[in-house]
Amino acid sequence: MKKEITSLDLEQYTWLCSIGKEVEAIDLFYLNYIAPAGDELIKKIQRQMSKAGQLLLSDELKKVQMTIQADIFGYESSQNAVFAEFTKKILCPATYKRLSITNPELKKAITNKALAEFQQKTRGSLAMTNADVLSSIRKLQTDLIKANIQIANKKAITGILDSEVAKFEKDLMKDIKKMNPDYYKQMEEGKLIKSRQLADGGYRNYTLESYSDMAVRTTLLNVDRTATEVKLMAEDLNFAEFYLRDNRKLKTGIERQICRHTIGQKFYGVSIVALNKETANLLEIPFIDDIRAEGAFGVYCRHSIRGTSDTYSEMIKKAVFISDAANNMEA
Ligand SMILES: [Zn+2]
Repeated sequence: MKKEITSLDLEQYTWLCSIGKEVEAIDLFYLNYIAPAGDELIKKIQRQMSKAGQLLLSDELKKVQMTIQADIFGYESSQNAVFAEFTKKILCPATYKRLSITNPELKKAITNKALAEFQQKTRGSLAMTNADVLSSIRKLQTDLIKANIQIANKKAITGILDSEVAKFEKDLMKDIKKMNPDYYKQMEEGKLIKSRQLADGGYRNYTLESYSDMAVRTTLLNVDRTATEVKLMAEDLNFAEFYLRDNRKLKTGIERQICRHTIGQKFYGVSIVALNKETANLLEIPFIDDIRAEGAFGVYCRHSIRGTSDTYSEMIKKAVFISDAANNMEA
């Protein structure tokens, strides 16, 4: 597992960012550093799980569990290391340059926010992976122990044929497979994470890949959003244009309702969002925290925000001023 970005890749990603292709740099970074490590981890876990497919002694079982935990820990620390390197050396400096952010405290705050966000997201999904895999192994082992006792009992009956015992054993194993859907989904399909309860009471199994993709991409794309938001507010501009930053094909094929709605709502020809509640109320435009809560800027969202032109900004400032004055007169 790579813990460092090669100097060649470092150079390439830096170059892509310098020509405004940060999203492409993020994609390449994901493809070359995050995805392969995830595949490797899944294979390692599957190897351990296949050992657990047969009845283990308690020492062996403990070893399997500890190996899985160690593999997950190794994956987590190497991912944190490459993620931090990409963020600190490549993405953040490029973003600060593009947005002319120079304040060192501000830079540090934005960088740290990205690192914390990533760690929180991966830690959550990895803890879930660990818990889900171990619990499905334990359930399978319990069922295997029970089956073993039943087989031994069957054999102990006088006069029973070997072929009868074999058939009994075969049927029992079929039942075990049916009784342990999680184990087989994890083991055979690599769907390591069981989602929390769905509305219908059931749950779905997810691959680690979809979780790490979510954590990496969303967090890295948030750097631009956070930096833009913070910078505009520091300049006393409490609004920004909501725009399609990445117009390549959508991975899910479905655009979020909230994004479509926000893009469609024009204020003097531009889709803008307010960066504080007051401006949102005065201009009757969407508030960034509200649309975020409804899923905008979430997983696979290709939208971001940017500052508006000087002429447009002046016009909005005037509109805010007039609206505010009108409100005060009413009051
Ligand atoms: Zn979106």
